[in-house]
Amino acid sequence: MHQEKKLVLATGNEGKKKEIEYLLRGFDLEIYSLRDFDGLPEVDEDQPTLEGNAEKKARVIHELLGIPTLADDTGLEVDALDGRPGVYSARYAGEDGNADANRALLLKEMADKKNRAARFRTVLAYFINGEKHLFQGVCEGEIIGRERGIGGFGYDPVFLPENSEMTFAEMSVEEKNKISHRGKALREFVHHLSKK
Ligand code: IMP
Repeated sequence: MHQEKKLVLATGNEGKKKEIEYLLRGFDLEIYSLRDFDGLPEVDEDQPTLEGNAEKKARVIHELLGIPTLADDTGLEVDALDGRPGVYSARYAGEDGNADANRALLLKEMADKKNRAARFRTVLAYFINGEKHLFQGVCEGEIIGRERGIGGFGYDPVFLPENSEMTFAEMSVEEKNKISHRGKALREFVHHLSKK
């Protein structure tokens, strides 16, 4: 199997790095995050789509370091809110990115809505030798009326995945990874690497 020996993750989030390292454990890859390099610029997530943000983060870092680079962006798309918060999921209730406030605002906006359908969508952008590859993972579900569970992060306590009796916040990390948007997108990426 041919593969580049290095991969940099365009994130400073060590939790994401661990998750990806675990999925890529069968590959002979040295995996880095942005924390391993000094003097890199902060890349603004200012694009109007998840694809745009993931692509921008991966491209900027790939061009600076010259190493294969993977970046992700995730959003929660709620049908009754015309797809909001979507690309603005982290900053839904304000620029400080407060997850409690984001969930409270979502529950308030959904209070009188009958259609509760929603999905998490993760887009991964992978740049190697100047070439771009995109991968996606979607998890369908619904927004429930009150918070349930204390695990996970972000919108997990108000998101009930389809065919599940537990919210993401009531699941173990392993249970969530099996069905989650991010888990699916990462497995698409792993599948791509395994074909090389
Ligand atoms: P990011 O692109 O992974 O930084 O995600 C953007 C925002 O979406 C986060 O700040 C969270 O609010 C939300 N989010 C992303 N993934 C998840 C998840 O798995 N569960 C709950 N919320 C998430």
